[in-house]
Amino acid sequence: MFKYDRQNKFLVESFKSNKLAHSYILVGPKSVDKKEFAVNFVKFANCQNPSQFFPCDKCDNCLKINKGSFIDFKIIEEDLSIAKMRELKNELIFPPYQADLRFLIINNAEQIKEDAASVLLKTLEEPRKRNVFFLLANSVYQVLPTIKSRCQILKFNPFLKEAKEKEEFIFGDFLSKLKSKTIIEKFSFVKNLEEEKYFSFLEEAIKFFQGKVRDDSFRDYSKKELVIILKNFKKAHSLINKTNANQRLALENTLLNT
Ligand SMILES: [Zn+2]
Repeated sequence: MFKYDRQNKFLVESFKSNKLAHSYILVGPKSVDKKEFAVNFVKFANCQNPSQFFPCDKCDNCLKINKGSFIDFKIIEEDLSIAKMRELKNELIFPPYQADLRFLIINNAEQIKEDAASVLLKTLEEPRKRNVFFLLANSVYQVLPTIKSRCQILKFNPFLKEAKEKEEFIFGDFLSKLKSKTIIEKFSFVKNLEEEKYFSFLEEAIKFFQGKVRDDSFRDYSKKELVIILKNFKKAHSLINKTNANQRLALENTLLNT
């Protein structure tokens, strides 16, 4: 989860300079664990022995937050009813018990209904300086505009991991059909490949053919051919890595010889 360094750094620096907003909406698709991110930040803010950007996860406060028994921190996620929002509003009249700031996470903020939202809104509108809200939502468009307007939005993009998986799939698919590809198809593949992807494609190709050298059921190429192909891919890889060679040409030539 520390992939979200940028967002974490932003909050940490706001916290350290006493500039945390009263309420944030953390927006990102389901695949982004926004709750884990927010809890981690709450731990950092209360940690007795934090590093520059992260909590220790071992001190009393960190452990209490992990157990859900830290008095000035609350996660609201299942019950988003008007009654719950009223209860919250009444609680927040009092300052935090022990900590400097009281943190509140409201998960699934897009599911808050209008009536409950209007109560929450009153809480958000009266900034009691020592309460900090994190509303978590999968999409900012689903959050009621009145609520959204009171919050600072912090976006989390579906992580690079998925883009990387997609890319690996495309490369793998192309490589597994390489034998049957025409020259035109090979060239058009290179043409459509962004220059900064050449390197990761070659890495994928090397991995792919290294696997095939050991795979006796793979009959597209003879073992001897596979060894040569692998050698050529490695050569292109180091060429692109080390020199000012025409990268596209190097890639085209390598594919031409497969
Ligand atoms: Zn700690």
